[in-house]
Amino acid sequence: MSSTQVPVGRFAPSPSGRMHLGNIYAAVMSWLSVRRRGGRWILRIEDLDPQRSKLTHAQMIEDDLQWLGLDWDEGGLDNRGPHGPYVQSQRHDIYEQYIDRLVATGYTYKCRCTRADIMATQAPHQSDGRIIYSGRCRPAAMPCHDTDHTATGATRLYVPDRDIEFDDLLAGPQRFNLARDCGDFILRRADGAWSYQLAVVVDDALMGVTEVMRGSDLLLSAAQQIYLYELLGFEPPRFAHLPLLTNETGQRLSKRDNSLSMEALRRDYEPTDVLGLVAHAARLIDTPRPVTLGELLAIQM
Ligand code: GLU
Repeated sequence: MSSTQVPVGRFAPSPSGRMHLGNIYAAVMSWLSVRRRGGRWILRIEDLDPQRSKLTHAQMIEDDLQWLGLDWDEGGLDNRGPHGPYVQSQRHDIYEQYIDRLVATGYTYKCRCTRADIMATQAPHQSDGRIIYSGRCRPAAMPCHDTDHTATGATRLYVPDRDIEFDDLLAGPQRFNLARDCGDFILRRADGAWSYQLAVVVDDALMGVTEVMRGSDLLLSAAQQIYLYELLGFEPPRFAHLPLLTNETGQRLSKRDNSLSMEALRRDYEPTDVLGLVAHAARLIDTPRPVTLGELLAIQM
């Protein structure tokens, strides 16, 4: 990124429920990071999973962000801005165009494995429960240009045995091996649903996002995404993965803790109290006390 470029950050929640402190933390930190430098902030609704996504959840997310004072320049349910739509379920034609480019490289194939097949044939179990696809449906030689893409099944991307390295702004230098750590991954599910990896790359690239700040549970995804940026000929953004939130005794905060959901937080606290909790968890302030976004903007990070 050149120094004259205005930073562009984004918050990309999945409307599968009410936000909790962890989501708010990512939103606040991303907002602060770009606002401190006079940058722009986008709100994108990642509602690709039709079973889990609900319009009412997206409306609640907007309401919770507004309650905290986190304003966005582009995006949201009303698709404000030049790069819309900002609701992923409305971007079908765009994803279609970019998957066609990937298919044309000859590095994708149709996969008809069921979940049971995948569980039975996956490469050695990963300790964190991640599933590495065994390559059961992969053609013997890649690239392969005679795959029948009209056939049913998921569209999977072949990944080479290659290291992806990047310098994370918060987590430091990273290196992942595509074949070993990620495996061939899905671009489009058999039921037609677009994968998170494809959609997030196409959207961040077309929306001009320069900085992706989010939880470090998505660190490995960044490697897959950087590879997609390369295949599609896009310049990747800078990645900044936030450490997962912990309590006073160092335990990870759990999504299942209802006292940390926005519903409970809004019942018990004022916006400045919630900002104080986030800022304290982020070690921006020493004690959890009420703070305003203006005060947080003035803190050197
Ligand atoms: N929609 C994803 C989530 O809510 C976030 C994706 C991202 O920030 O890249 O987990």
